[in-house]
Amino acid sequence: MPETFLTLVNGTEYCSTYVRVASFYTPACKRCDGSGKFSYNNSLKSDRCFLCEGARYTTNVAFTHEEATENARARAVAKDKRDTKAKAKRQTEWVEGQAKRDADALAHEARVEAQKTEKAAWGHLPGTVGDKVKVTGTVSIATNLDTQYGTSRLIAIDTADKQTVKMFTTAGWCWDVARGDTLTIQATIKEFGEWEGKAETLLLRPKSV
Ligand SMILES: [Zn+2]
Repeated sequence: MPETFLTLVNGTEYCSTYVRVASFYTPACKRCDGSGKFSYNNSLKSDRCFLCEGARYTTNVAFTHEEATENARARAVAKDKRDTKAKAKRQTEWVEGQAKRDADALAHEARVEAQKTEKAAWGHLPGTVGDKVKVTGTVSIATNLDTQYGTSRLIAIDTADKQTVKMFTTAGWCWDVARGDTLTIQATIKEFGEWEGKAETLLLRPKSV
């Protein structure tokens, strides 16, 4: 029958299992831990351990009880040494990684801050609601929107003075306008607003000129 030998090393208990044959101890099969049975052997529809084939051990080593105790101790010490080394390595890697994580976090913060600053630099068109304006810039949005009244086109233009104007239109000229185009329009200021932290001016009745 399998017998376990427990060894305490640096506060951790390590276990070695031996199979007792007459008065000798043989290291137990690693797969079945000396039981001779292993339930994952489903393909053969058998619970016999496929490593030791039911013998419960895989070596011919025979220890006395004293030798087995010493062997268990030596294995425990070696395992503890490996575990300690691995733990120290993981800790070192974590500490080394911290500098990178800190740098990444700072870089992310800086990017967010730069985006905020960039957005804050954008302003509304000069003028007041109802004013007729002429705006030239680069199209940053040109997309179709399906509404209950049919398809409408949303167009946004960014001016060189960092103003975004937006308009919804179904005028004939609007359908060929694409992102990246340079466009000049005449329209009426409808409203001053903000979109995701960036000022924008909403226009009415835009005409391409
Ligand atoms: Zn086995």
